[in-house]
Amino acid sequence: MNRYFDTNATTPLSEAAREAWLKISEKHWHNPSSLYREAGVAKRHLEDCREQLGDLLGCEPERIVFTSGATEANNLVFELAARQTETKAGRVLISGVEHPSVRESARKWFGKERLVELPVTADGGLDLSALEKELNGGVALVSVMAANNETGVLQPWEAVRDLCAKAGVPFHCDAAQWLGKLRANGLGDCPFLTGSAHKFGGPKGTGFLLVPEDGGTPDFAGLTGGPQEGGRRAGTEDLASIAAMVTALEEASALLSEAFVREKNADRDWFDEEARQRIPGLQVVAPKAPRLWNTTMLVLPRHQNLKWLTRLSRLGFAVSTGSACSSGKENPSHVMEAMGLDYDKMGRVMRLSGAWATTREDWAALLEALENVWNELESGVRPGGKRGRVSLTHPDPTSLFSE
Ligand code: PMP
Repeated sequence: MNRYFDTNATTPLSEAAREAWLKISEKHWHNPSSLYREAGVAKRHLEDCREQLGDLLGCEPERIVFTSGATEANNLVFELAARQTETKAGRVLISGVEHPSVRESARKWFGKERLVELPVTADGGLDLSALEKELNGGVALVSVMAANNETGVLQPWEAVRDLCAKAGVPFHCDAAQWLGKLRANGLGDCPFLTGSAHKFGGPKGTGFLLVPEDGGTPDFAGLTGGPQEGGRRAGTEDLASIAAMVTALEEASALLSEAFVREKNADRDWFDEEARQRIPGLQVVAPKAPRLWNTTMLVLPRHQNLKWLTRLSRLGFAVSTGSACSSGKENPSHVMEAMGLDYDKMGRVMRLSGAWATTREDWAALLEALENVWNELESGVRPGGKRGRVSLTHPDPTSLFSE
């Protein structure tokens, strides 16, 4: 039984990725920059990984810079864009639903005045006409994610990529949630692309950034102090984790037949429909929009989302409140805000994100648990008859809210 419904936060290391990690750690742990034979073998493994990843993404391997994950990659893109912008007049355009590592980097390097947050529709998809209007010169970078981490809504990144190419504006796509869940076709054609290993069965703390063929400005270095990654990011490469990442992406990508995606979408849609029928007043966010097959965002009919989460946790189910505020007092989710959800609803959202192995039976078990929690909250009585507070069984409650 699969009760983990927080895949968009992170995934466990896949068995194949673990084996790849162990093999490199045991046999090829040498520094790829050293000059003796064993180090040369490590270097060859590193470049093989780059090639394999290039094949999976459909891009030249030289464009890949290995990083510590998507946060670092997203940060680097904005630093690079800021350095490339000759005049201080350049603006950056991002969608209103980007991950904080995009949003806050954009603010840091361009300031509020030069940052344009493009609107999304009520379904959470980028308003392309707003982008077209803004693409009128003086744009240093456009950044639009491939799939949203909270709602799972797919963004029209192909259309954005093509519009930007026509306008001669660099485009960055944060594909952290897309990769491993949907085919990578065409993503390698984005001038800048971000990926993160732990979102598809690879290890945490590893990811990559794709840069344009020319690598951006010749003097660009995200981290300085060493010649690694073609001088674009100093620091000894974590070859074991890189090998595990590439293995995990290969493994996940091999599953992604049309039939697989269709079946998984149908399971999630079945859950959405059943949940709506069995829990009166429950809403699904953007049910008609194209979404990641593993993700659904609910607005619960009553009671703060944390109350639901703690009770589900006690029943063994791991779910998330997304980035939404649980108390309703501070830091409401900017994604929900951009989609026009009112403040009251923001405190009642719940993100469910299944895994590759999640079956309809797993969704059905979650549904039953949700129904139990709903009955319990409505009656104010715990199953078993006791009234009062429910305590978390999780050893570290804060980890339940991590993104
Ligand atoms: N972008 C998106 C869309 C994400 O979902 C995440 C992880 N929540 C990140 C970036 C950051 O990834 P990492 O954990 O690799 O830094």
